[in-house]
Amino acid sequence: MLDFQQADDGTVTGVATESGVIPAAKVILASGGFGASQELLTQYIPAVADVHFPGHHGSTGDGIKMGLTVGAAVENMASFQPYPAHIGPGMRSVSPEVIMAGGIMVDPQGKRFVDETRYPGGLSNGILQLPDKQAYEILDKRLYELLPHYLEEFFTSGLLRQALTSWDLAGKLGIDAEGLEQTVEDYNGLAGVGPDRFGRTPPEPFKAPYYGIRVKAALYHTQGGLKVNTDGQVLRADGSIIPNLYAGGGVATGVSGAGMEGYLPGNGQLASLGLGMLAAEHAAASLMA
Ligand SMILES: Cc1cc2nc3c(=O)[nH]c(=O)nc-3n(C[C@H](O)[C@H](O)[C@H](O)COP(=O)(O)OP(=O)(O)OC[C@H]3O[C@@H](n4cnc5c(N)ncnc54)[C@H](O)[C@@H]3O)c2cc1C
Repeated sequence: MLDFQQADDGTVTGVATESGVIPAAKVILASGGFGASQELLTQYIPAVADVHFPGHHGSTGDGIKMGLTVGAAVENMASFQPYPAHIGPGMRSVSPEVIMAGGIMVDPQGKRFVDETRYPGGLSNGILQLPDKQAYEILDKRLYELLPHYLEEFFTSGLLRQALTSWDLAGKLGIDAEGLEQTVEDYNGLAGVGPDRFGRTPPEPFKAPYYGIRVKAALYHTQGGLKVNTDGQVLRADGSIIPNLYAGGGVATGVSGAGMEGYLPGNGQLASLGLGMLAAEHAAASLMA
């Protein structure tokens, strides 16, 4: 971890490294979030401290810790982007399209627990409440034939199980057969008629063969961080600016708000590219002023 060099009034004047101080007229932090820090996850988002983080191992929150040492405020530290259909380390995840085109998720009792189209936040939140933070994604012949490019690999590797009845599929997945059979019956009964008790209208009834795959919740990126203004300048708790210090991307508060349901596709990259550009433009302009 690095430290800042500061003037007496708090102005950041450089970065202290293991090989000495690097003086800097402006410092822009771009060191990412804290998805790889057990310490910070346990402190701020304990619900995902034990789920897999497939992001960069360097996401240890160093920039956030550095900011805190010079009095920066942090914001939305419990906010994160989850993923509800993760398979395991080094493996592809199941695409959201399977759910959006009609797939469902069930618990070990074979029961649905949420409107699955609340992707990724609402669905992940449901999975995080289940034993081992895992669920079973269920689909049918139509979905398999619609999305073979996403699904074939899972089928040939044996992860995606297939059966002619929902009862037999439950057996192959190791979940409650009566529960799954009832779930599929209820789902089919509401297809095109809906909405179900979660507010979702199934597009079409499931048809055999049925398919199912065990999925887990994963952490894709943390969305809280150093509090910044719209120029990427790092702020103290009283709203004052820490002169010459900027932050963009995962090290700064993102645009997804608090909690996990504010993420929209692209929000992570937006905070990196957008805030990074705004910070760089402001820093350059103030040096030339
Ligand atoms: C599987 C997956 C899928 C995702 N999908 C999406 C998506 O579809 N859309 C989206 O918007 N976002 C997505 N994200 C999130 C997105 O990847 C991040 O929000 C984004 O990469 C953050 O960019 P960054 O530049 O802030 O940080 P990073 O890309 O994490 O880069 C920070 C760098 O700083 C380095 N660093 C940290 N500390 C130090 C230190 N002390 N000294 C030197 N270097 C240091 C790190 O090693 C790292 O290389 C996804 C994330 C994952 C894991």
